[in-house]
Amino acid sequence: MKTCPRCESSIDDEARYCIECGAPQTEPAAEEFDEYVQRQAKQVAAESGTGAGGGSGGERRADGAGSGFASMEELTDREQLWRRGCYVAGYGTVVIALTLVPQIGSFLLILGGIAILPPIRRLTAGPLGSPLKREVMAGLYAVFAVTGIALLVLL
Ligand SMILES: [Zn+2]
Repeated sequence: MKTCPRCESSIDDEARYCIECGAPQTEPAAEEFDEYVQRQAKQVAAESGTGAGGGSGGERRADGAGSGFASMEELTDREQLWRRGCYVAGYGTVVIALTLVPQIGSFLLILGGIAILPPIRRLTAGPLGSPLKREVMAGLYAVFAVTGIALLVLL
């Protein structure tokens, strides 16, 4: 038997956690516990972030800063969600368009699908000084997609 360093109750030598106070007793258990706490903290932060509605203000500031490189690296949960959505929409559109490839409309769909991918938005920062807004890329995507689908239907 050994004693818990935190609450001094006697616990089994093999125990990973103290049965009395729950304190981790081994190195791996401590790391596991750490990860768990961090995950919980992130979840709480994400939940309070979406509820407050302050996210959009910060986002706009990050976009408006433009020349600030640091702001581009800070990805909020909303931005990550948007990025993931862009990837899904972009790749999904390209994959669908590839199955329709001899038709003219499919090429527009491919262009739109590529345009909405986040790396393309980052590329626009080169010639323009600051990356185009997400809304612009989504707009481009919508124009390409609608035109492409219209061509597919009409031709
Ligand atoms: Zn204890």
